[in-house]
Amino acid sequence: MSADANIESRIAWLPDLLYIGGQFERGLALVCEASGAIIKVAPADQLTDEKRVRLANRAMLPGMINAHSHAFQRVLRGRTEYRSIRAGASPLPNHEVDRDSFWTWREMMYSAATRLTPDDVYDASRMAFLEMALGGITAVGEFHYLHHAPDGVPYDDPNLLAKEVVRAARDVGLRIALLRVAYARSGYQTEVNPRQPRFIERDPALYLKNVEGLKADLDQAGDEAAWVGIAPHSVRAVPLDYLREVTAYANEHQLKIHMHVAEQPAEVSACVEEYGRTPIALLDTEGLLSERFTAVHAIHVTPKAIPSLARTRAIVCACPTTERNLGDGVVPADEYFKQDVAVCLGTDSHAQIDLLEDARELEYHLRLQKLERAVLGGAALLFDCATTNGARSIGAAGGALEVGRPADFFTIALDDPSIAGAAPDNLLASIVFASSRAAVREVVVGGKPIVSEGQHLIQDDVVERFNELQKRLWN
Ligand SMILES: [Zn+2]
Repeated sequence: MSADANIESRIAWLPDLLYIGGQFERGLALVCEASGAIIKVAPADQLTDEKRVRLANRAMLPGMINAHSHAFQRVLRGRTEYRSIRAGASPLPNHEVDRDSFWTWREMMYSAATRLTPDDVYDASRMAFLEMALGGITAVGEFHYLHHAPDGVPYDDPNLLAKEVVRAARDVGLRIALLRVAYARSGYQTEVNPRQPRFIERDPALYLKNVEGLKADLDQAGDEAAWVGIAPHSVRAVPLDYLREVTAYANEHQLKIHMHVAEQPAEVSACVEEYGRTPIALLDTEGLLSERFTAVHAIHVTPKAIPSLARTRAIVCACPTTERNLGDGVVPADEYFKQDVAVCLGTDSHAQIDLLEDARELEYHLRLQKLERAVLGGAALLFDCATTNGARSIGAAGGALEVGRPADFFTIALDDPSIAGAAPDNLLASIVFASSRAAVREVVVGGKPIVSEGQHLIQDDVVERFNELQKRLWN
């Protein structure tokens, strides 16, 4: 290929404003080569023969990274927003509760999880990922724990369902970290929950064998679109020996480790009962925290826990739209920020999929709790949670518009009613605190458009199939 042909295969994207180095700049072009990598960010008048794509009346921002998702839970949206129990009549074993909570919601979630076929998992995942793409998300960390057939028997391919989720992400065009979940038991001194057999792999050797199989399969594709990570579900679901073994494997193979930590007070008290330590104290004293580790939720933590996370450079993943939906509590992000613990964001249960809403809720929950304003220090830090911190958490190559990173970005229409009138120096605050998802107009992953003019390329098919699934599932 001649040098000229190389230049001609390059694309120069020309928005009105481009978010780089923590601010919006005018008159810059983002140039990527055929592989989808950014090769320069340069003034538009310095371009040569690159193919130009003018993005008029648009601001361009790095694609957001959704660090915590359970894609199949998209089927539950709107189906659990009612009282499921009467006072004094809890249907739950081991939980003396008489009101709706995370634990009653979990039973409803399990009942949906037991009914999904492999095709259903694909259709539900595609719906969740499509909605993410429409909101400017370009990579997702999928915390995947549906492994077996409904009766608990492994499929012929033990990674069948994981591969359906990866296929869904590829078809929508998102990058995906498939964080394969280890789930060994219902909990400490807890009877087996009959709705959990699809999740359980009791033997860590078997779990790791299945991780290896999946990793080999994804590595074979040889792209940066899908990779594997380790996800011990929680201290409740994974006993300590098992946890040590899978963490050692992750460290040896340099894989990311994600774990639910301290989402609910009951989980913390069960851990104290079993180990005499809180979950973070247990992870720290066992040497399991590291910069590879992401603690999902980390809400009910003691003051001592935060320096442990800071010292080990572990990351916290907050999921505020889910946490408010489930009544989990408020992530102490102010303390995490003060002590330099990186916080990333996830849409988790998909009660709503809008990562900018998660970003603003991280701040707003603290305002309500503390009766203060501007607790966390501004829109740029919140946007970092949705981008660079998420990329570090799941090991994605994107998160910023810089040379060498992939051209993963989204655009915002500057005339959208939700942000109209913003000036460049307060545009990011308008976007983070007020933009509607309808303001997202183009989404590009690895230089390839997946959303244009606010419409995804395969949107109609995805929505139609999902409507059919929901009818089957709930009628
Ligand atoms: Zn979760």
